[in-house]
Amino acid sequence: MIPFNKPYLSGKELHYISDGVLSGKISGNGKYTQLCQAFFKEKFGFKQSLLTSSCTDALEMAALLANVQPGDEVIMPSYTFVSTANAFVLRGAKIVFCDSRKDHPGMDEESIEELITTKTKAIVCVHYAGVACDMDKILAIAKKHKLFVVEDAAQAIDSYYKGRPLGRIGDFGAFSFHETKNIISGEGGMLTVNHPEFAKRAEIIWEKGTNRSAFWRGEVDKYGWVDVGSSFLPSEVVAAFLYAQLENMETIQSQRKAIWKNYWDGLQPLKEKGVQLPFIPEYATNNAHMFYLVCNNLEERTALIEHLKQQQINAVFHYLSLHKSPYYHTKHDGRGLPQSDRYEDCLVRLPFYYELNETNQNLIINSITDFYERPV
Ligand SMILES: *Cc1c(COP(=O)(O)O)cnc(C)c1O
Repeated sequence: MIPFNKPYLSGKELHYISDGVLSGKISGNGKYTQLCQAFFKEKFGFKQSLLTSSCTDALEMAALLANVQPGDEVIMPSYTFVSTANAFVLRGAKIVFCDSRKDHPGMDEESIEELITTKTKAIVCVHYAGVACDMDKILAIAKKHKLFVVEDAAQAIDSYYKGRPLGRIGDFGAFSFHETKNIISGEGGMLTVNHPEFAKRAEIIWEKGTNRSAFWRGEVDKYGWVDVGSSFLPSEVVAAFLYAQLENMETIQSQRKAIWKNYWDGLQPLKEKGVQLPFIPEYATNNAHMFYLVCNNLEERTALIEHLKQQQINAVFHYLSLHKSPYYHTKHDGRGLPQSDRYEDCLVRLPFYYELNETNQNLIINSITDFYERPV
């Protein structure tokens, strides 16, 4: 079976883990956490980055930092992972879901402004497949209405909008190092904080509501409970794994881009069959997080996934629209979101991982081509 995903080990993961463990400090915010954070500052210019146990945690930190209160409204796409919404629902917010674009599963920037009310507190944009949302449009709306912008950059490491790294554009950015992402640590994530006025509070929330970080730096002579917070930082074991991956980011990324381009070149003929291929706007880069196709309808997608399964290829669909979910549909305001529903029904993701070799990739491409050339 060709799997959908296979976690890639770049080589030094176990070495750094044993170095970290044997050094005697295994809990969080030690040498490897700091090495990772320094890497992000150097490579992407993130002013403050804080490793977390997951992107879910980073989003929860962003909701705390934005001071989201019960009754506040938060605008986000319906076509996203549950954590994008849960982080704000945990603070009592009402989620106002926005539809996806016709040419791309990301949020339709043109439909955001009509959703704003006096209760709106934040816009959460999700860079689907690592492809940037139109941030100038989103920032202009946020500025006009004094809203926070949170970037769910879970899929968007090493991707850019008009030359600016994603995660550095809104107020906060949340990344994931889950094993299905480009750069991994099993479970793992990171919050970026882009304005200095939030830096102190971010560190306190990260350190369980204490000023322990300031204490270690010698800025206060004892540390205590100064704010809300939680256990957001990962152990050094996770950070050591992540650091080995970061050191190999360029190799990982260039291999993934080559795989992406093979799919792109090999699957162009599907356009004539009405299949929608990935779209990269001119302001965005492609970080080769995933390769997806959008079929003509649900029946076609179901048949394609089944056809591939019979050839030992595991292709998978993606999100179920959150506005129709068992948990949220009674809380949603009833608006239909046709594009989100279309991606729910029609989008299929192809196997994508570092070690996917050319033979197997050609097998996948040929198998899809056969499917669309079969007599109906
Ligand atoms: C993967 C993902 C998440 C969750 O990341 P975790 O690290 O597993 O918590 C959130 N949002 C999006 C868009 C994702 O793709």
